[in-house]
Amino acid sequence: MTVNKRTATDPAPLLPAGSGRQGDPGTTPDTNRLTAPQIRQMLQRQWGDVLLQRLEVIGGIAAHLGTPAYLVGGCVRDLLQNRPAPDLDLAIEGDVRALAESPPLQQLHVQCQLHPRFGTATLRYPDGFRLDFARCRVEHYPAPATLPEVRPGDIHSDLARRDFTINAMAVGLDPTTFGNLLDPHGGRADLRQGLLRVLHSCSFLDDPTRILRGLRFAVRFQFRLEKGTRALLREALAQDIFAQLSGARLWRELQYLLELADLPVALERLGAWRLWPLLRPEPTDMESLLARIRRGHQEIDWFHRHCPDEKLFDAAVWLTILWRDIPWAEAEKRLHYWPVAGGHHILRDLRLLPDMPGALTRAGRPSAVGRLWERLSLPGLLALCAEYPETDIMVESGHQHLRRQRWLSSPLNGKELQALGLAPGPRLGEVLERLRNARLDGEIEDKETARQWLIGQGILPSIQP
Ligand code: ATP
Ligand code: MG
Repeated sequence: MTVNKRTATDPAPLLPAGSGRQGDPGTTPDTNRLTAPQIRQMLQRQWGDVLLQRLEVIGGIAAHLGTPAYLVGGCVRDLLQNRPAPDLDLAIEGDVRALAESPPLQQLHVQCQLHPRFGTATLRYPDGFRLDFARCRVEHYPAPATLPEVRPGDIHSDLARRDFTINAMAVGLDPTTFGNLLDPHGGRADLRQGLLRVLHSCSFLDDPTRILRGLRFAVRFQFRLEKGTRALLREALAQDIFAQLSGARLWRELQYLLELADLPVALERLGAWRLWPLLRPEPTDMESLLARIRRGHQEIDWFHRHCPDEKLFDAAVWLTILWRDIPWAEAEKRLHYWPVAGGHHILRDLRLLPDMPGALTRAGRPSAVGRLWERLSLPGLLALCAEYPETDIMVESGHQHLRRQRWLSSPLNGKELQALGLAPGPRLGEVLERLRNARLDGEIEDKETARQWLIGQGILPSIQP
């Protein structure tokens, strides 16, 4: 389906909550206005004196250079919500380099990493504290769901390119007005009402990743879509907008979603927002899927507790759990399009999983059980365990395999077997494998019992030279 080519420069504006966006963009349309000294106090209370002073220094340098600087985006939202801000972003009206490399910052031993292609820089203070700078910009989307063309702009155009009103506020750092809140789109009012509102009617068409960003904010802050924005979501879906998004961009957003601690809530929202087809066909038994997801979290926690030095690609566990009950081709179709690391392992596991429980039950000897578990990747094994209650024998067997059995090897290595008279070659490999199985089955423990076992099996002569 084709999508009308509309751009961020000529969208129909949405009226924000509050008094609208026609007034002086430097003032908030909120009647309950926060003054600059109040914001300064909030910065000090929430982020501390050291950070406040750093921002004041930057504001001073920026004023001196004639390139105004602003705190912007998520960190302003978090400040107003009294939540810790994970990362601080600064927007600069002017040359980022001149500010980031200015002598006062060098005197403070602040290290600067420039990314000239993107007009951004990262500052690192000696204590490890980090600040990200970006030049204010205007964005223009040449076609829906593509990357935008950008050119330098001022703070107002920079706020106008953002995803939601709650993320489109800035705090000025100029020494004369330090703490001045810029809220031209009514973000603060939306924040108070728990609303996610896009800034213009083409927002989701320009960049459908905003839909999934919105879903994450909805889950994280328990916010909901404002009515007009909900209608725009439906319109974007009716235009099949995600079909135009690259697999890499879609997968990145989905991965963030899968990483949410509140994944069950996120999946419920995914359904409410009619977004299931992105991830899989809509589940018929949501309860059982959510139960597996909850157990999946327990399995991942178990793994990190018991195998702290090993890496686990959590997203592969989630995809395996989510795709366990859908046709294999549905998973394959998505993995063909998304660049998922180790995607072929997920597809192989999905083929193996239906037969695993029966095979494991029939296996009998520990070595046969171990061989079966070894057919699955680590995420596949954890996904299978997540289908059973924590105390189930299947889970115990999987955990036993991960904690102990997979590490057991033959007590005698190839060199030692050759020293005992076995010739090198494929048969040696078979003997090593049999020794490992014997160890798994508890028939041997160490080198001596292994040697006796080899004699008993007729592999070594009973009288050694
Ligand atoms: P988080 O706390 O998860 O980091 P955030 O809002 O800071 O949330 P970032 O991805 O760090 O999110 O982006 C910083 C800011 O950049 C956002 O607050 C928003 O203003 C803007 N932004 C990020 N991605 C987009 C996008 N796809 N479209 C428009 N604006 C965006
Ligand atoms: Mg951020």
